[in-house]
Amino acid sequence: MIELLDAVKTYTQGRRTVSAVRGVTLRVATGEFVTIMGPSGSGKSTLMHLMGALDTPSGGRAVFHGQDLQTMSDRQRSLLRRDRIGFVFQAFNLLPTLTGAENVALPLLLAGTNRRQALHRASECLERVLLGHRADHFPDEMSGGEMQRVAVARALVADPEAVLCDEPTGNLDTAASREILSLLSKLPEPGKRAVIMVTHDPNGASYGTRLVRIRDGLLESDEPVRK
Ligand code: ADP
Repeated sequence: MIELLDAVKTYTQGRRTVSAVRGVTLRVATGEFVTIMGPSGSGKSTLMHLMGALDTPSGGRAVFHGQDLQTMSDRQRSLLRRDRIGFVFQAFNLLPTLTGAENVALPLLLAGTNRRQALHRASECLERVLLGHRADHFPDEMSGGEMQRVAVARALVADPEAVLCDEPTGNLDTAASREILSLLSKLPEPGKRAVIMVTHDPNGASYGTRLVRIRDGLLESDEPVRK
């Protein structure tokens, strides 16, 4: 479903160039929960940005459902992200002036869905993350774990084919981390959805179906996770 084919990403800063990703081939299918681990600066976030159509490779190809990201316009890539990919970040990225339900509904509201429908869909997603009772609360009334569950609900609101998570448990305590990892592990569906997660947490990888290790911009290993 998401494919990186000998993908390269080079950043230029003045006269200096940084090769963040140096030729990675990785194919992710629906039903998979792929965790990506590696030292700081090894290229994990860059890889995630390529897979999530937030960026395009400088060499090789990044393909989403058969469609080459480089052949798409910025507008097409932004619609692809809006409608088909959900994102979860370490810092939750919720808007403090909106309730939980409004935060979840926001991507639909921005896409033009009417408010009643968007909030109805948001409440379904909040139920799915076991947070229906917190729908009318504001982020500053929630724990970190609750805020991240709202962020997961928001990532699901458009019923995406891929959910990409960048250090989703980085700001959470052990109990809240387990809750989020357990929720994420229930999201992949064969034929429908994959989850890809960058993490530093060795425990995080045990929730995945596959563990990819990155080092110095290269794939170090790629193995199924034994349960
Ligand atoms: P990780 O997520 O594993 O910590 P990154 O993908 O963030 O690694 O970064 C890989 C390398 O690319 C690092 O050396 C980093 O400094 C560099 N890099 C990442 N993003 C940029 C950017 N926008 N401009 C310049 N260099 C960058």
